[in-house]
Amino acid sequence: MTGDRPDHPIAVTRSSLPLLEEYVEMLKPLWESAWLTNMGEYHKQFAGLLKEYLHTPNLELFVNGHMALELTLQAMNLSGEVITTPFSFASTTHAIVRNGLTPVFCDINPVDYTLDADRLESLITPRTTAIVPVHVYGHICNVEKIGEIAGRYGLKVIYDAAHTFGETYDGRGIGQFGDASMFSFHATKVFHSIEGGAVAFRDEALAPVLYELKNFGITGYERVDSVGANGKMNEFQAAMGILNLRRVDAEIGKRKALAKRYRERLSGVEGIRLSPENPRVRYNYAYMPVVFEGYRKDRDQVFRELAEHDIHARKYFYPCINDYDCYKGRFDAAATPVAQRISQQVLTLPLYADLEPEIVDLICDLILR
Ligand SMILES: *Cc1c(COP(=O)(O)O)cnc(C)c1O
Repeated sequence: MTGDRPDHPIAVTRSSLPLLEEYVEMLKPLWESAWLTNMGEYHKQFAGLLKEYLHTPNLELFVNGHMALELTLQAMNLSGEVITTPFSFASTTHAIVRNGLTPVFCDINPVDYTLDADRLESLITPRTTAIVPVHVYGHICNVEKIGEIAGRYGLKVIYDAAHTFGETYDGRGIGQFGDASMFSFHATKVFHSIEGGAVAFRDEALAPVLYELKNFGITGYERVDSVGANGKMNEFQAAMGILNLRRVDAEIGKRKALAKRYRERLSGVEGIRLSPENPRVRYNYAYMPVVFEGYRKDRDQVFRELAEHDIHARKYFYPCINDYDCYKGRFDAAATPVAQRISQQVLTLPLYADLEPEIVDLICDLILR
């Protein structure tokens, strides 16, 4: 760092990598067997390790998180309307729409930005078949209330848990809530397998359905039973996942220390809002969202000032999904005013295991000065 500039551009995240030598070592058996994909040895190993790490008995691997979610919705044979949140990544709603289902947007709560469970019931119609909530930034949804309402109306609950890899709630793996939870192992996430994803699910009868859907519906050498897609994770991804899983706890520890440093500097500042941490959650510190509400600089000004110093925070999530051009005319974003407001006020600051603490200090200095 020289003066008030980092030596190199700082992005909001940076993919974590094992030693190259370790990865190359993992690849040697692949060169020997020439088995590169289609549920090979690493695929099997990785799935087993993940079941243990995520405390979930049922899990299926996918080529990425999006396919995991899209095919899980398909596996559940849903119809009609699905209640979800507009405050998420494109994938969540796209997975619903690409299944021919109608998304119904529920507003978020202004404290942790997850789906506002108090508004959920009023959106349920005779056509509603499922709820797809998102554990935003690592904050866990009101799983009790969502579960209670879903139970009463006979609705499926599929969590987008892309942000909550490895988190626990009251000591339970986060993948144990609802009927299914999707995890993303994209390169930019806390834990990654280059691209990759998984679904943890409650009903073990879903296992063969998901397997078929990710493998063209093929069930035997000369037999195709359903119209499946291709969502298979390959061996290079699984090998990367196995190596990264060994390091993820240490990485989360580093993230935790950096998040604490941000919080020490930014909490209690008039006009800057940080979400409270829930003591029942073991966090993974995936993101560092900050909401500027009545601060002397607005979100866009902070974004620009940081960018001028080669620090690239992200307006994540902005715009809201119900404001996307591809959904123009279909939804009314004004119907979810809290999501709309937060999306205009929130900035996610750089946070990754190897981020230098001095950069965190610099970012705070720039915001506060
Ligand atoms: C990353 C992400 C996804 C999609 O995951 P991919 O593995 O990139 O397909 C879905 N939802 C949310 C909230 C995400 O952050």
